This record gives sequence, C-alpha cells and structure tokens, in this order.
Amino acid sequence: KEEYIRKPEWLKTKINTNEAYTDLKKLMREKGLNTVCEEARCPNIHECWSERKTATFMILGSICTRACRFCAVNTGLPNELDLNEPMRVAESVKIMGLKHVVVTAVARDDLNDAGAGVFAETVRAIRREVPGCTIEILPSDMKGDYENLRNLMSSGPDIFNHNIETVRRLTPRVRAKATYDRSLELLRRVKEIAPDTPTKSSIMVGLGETKEEIIQAMDDLRAHNVDIMTIGQYLQPTKKHLMVERYYHPDEFAELKEIAMTKGFSHCEAGPLVRSSYHADEQVSNASAQ
Ligand code: SF4
Ligand code: SF4
Repeated sequence: KEEYIRKPEWLKTKINTNEAYTDLKKLMREKGLNTVCEEARCPNIHECWSERKTATFMILGSICTRACRFCAVNTGLPNELDLNEPMRVAESVKIMGLKHVVVTAVARDDLNDAGAGVFAETVRAIRREVPGCTIEILPSDMKGDYENLRNLMSSGPDIFNHNIETVRRLTPRVRAKATYDRSLELLRRVKEIAPDTPTKSSIMVGLGETKEEIIQAMDDLRAHNVDIMTIGQYLQPTKKHLMVERYYHPDEFAELKEIAMTKGFSHCEAGPLVRSSYHADEQVSNASAQ
C-alpha cells in the first residue's frame, strides 16, 4: 500500500488572489494563452505577476507529446500550430508590463522542427514589442536535433534554461523520452553557439535521490558550463503522479545552495517553493555581471 507523508508547515501556502491577479487571468483567457503560473497552481503567482513583473508562458499549445511522471500538463494529440501565438504572447507581455518573461513550451515531437520556428518567432515578437523586457527560454530538448537548437538560438534570448529535472539514476523513471545525457549535451551546445548567453538548469528533490547524487548533478551541470542552478521541492500534482519520497527542510535547501555556490555557479536558488522561473529576474542581472 502506498503511504503518503504529510506536507510540512512550510509548504502550506495559500494562493493570494487580488484584483490585479483576476484581471491578468482574464487577459490570458481573452488571448487564448497558457501560463505555467496558472497551470501548475504556482504559489508564487502573486509575487511574480504583481510585484516582480515576471511570468512564465507555455506556448505551442496546451497538450504535450510526452508524459513525464511528475508533470501536470495534459498529454495526447497536440494542438494545431498557431502562427499568431507569438504576437499574442508579446501583446500580453506588454499589457502586463513584464520586466522579465520566461517562455516555455510543451514538447512537440510531432513537428520536424520541434516547434523551434514558432518559439523563435515568439522571442522576436516580445523583443520587438517590449524591448526592455529580458527573455528567458525554457525549451524541450528539441528532440536532440542541434539544427533546431541553432534555429531557436538565432532569436537571441537573454537566458537559456533547460531542466535536467532530477539526478541521473532517477531520470528514466521521472522523465519521458528525455535522457540525462541529451539534456546535458543540449546545455553544452548552447554555450558553443552563444558563449555569452547564461545557461540554467533545475532539479526537483524529494523523488528518492541521495545527497551524493544531487552533488554529482551539480558537478555534471558545471562540467557542461551551466551558470545557474535552481533546486526546489517536488510536489505531487495528482495521485496518478509520482509520490513524494521526502520533504526537505528549508535548512537542507540552504545547505544545497551553499554547496552549489562552491561548485562555481554564478547563481543558485534553492528552497521548498523554488521553481525553475522563481526570482529569474535577479538571475539575469547576476549572470550578466559575471
Ligand atoms: Fe509563474 Fe514561475 Fe513565478 Fe511560479 S515562480 S508564478 S511559474 S513565474
Ligand atoms: Fe511536462 Fe515538459 Fe514532460 Fe511535457 S515534456 S510532460 S510539458 S515536463
């Protein structure tokens, strides 16, 4: 029988919903857009949208061709490619007055270019419409096709983010199709294509990994020239998803952050509620100050 462990106090947060938040939600529906902030019911949504002026858009539709066992995004036959999506994202970034935007996407393994064309166009449209906004991209592994990656990178994002999600041993259980080495190689290639663009990756803890394995993941990321790392607590989105094996105490996150900094990352965010895009605005200035 599966046994659930109780959620500790520090994870019991309430989504803060005020008027500004309701207006922004309405804007997303009007524009037919998806945000990870809403989909993942992210507890940081008020802080990000209203105070920090940052948000994470999920483009290329709302249905993913993969089915990772930690992820709440729907799986199935993907939506038709929407060529107007880049412009609608850019308009929304402008209306929301964002200072930093993260653009991620479902994995589009059904498309030859893995969605790189529309993804790149989204970055260009935001740059055109909102020149002061920094842009972070968080794509899939682009099917391991480095032509697709070059196509995407030609749009000139400010940060390239791609998550390894977990330690090497657990990757086959946690991620669908993606492999640990392919993700590391993708990050290395980005540095080859655009040496000045900071790269970033993130893992979730609480899936059964050991501390040694986490440290090994840090070393692996550094060996592939990754600049920024984030570490957050895995939370089970529904009962069908992988169970949480352990909740890490905030002090343990602080220790992991300290270890990461000794490994040479320019920035590391680690904490129970840290998400890949949490405090991303600070990381741009930190990374470019290197
Ligand atoms: Fe959105 Fe990321 Fe902020 Fe959560 S942490 S609200 S997903 S931008
Ligand atoms: Fe979720 Fe990304 Fe995996 Fe698709 S590829 S199921 S969006 S984590």
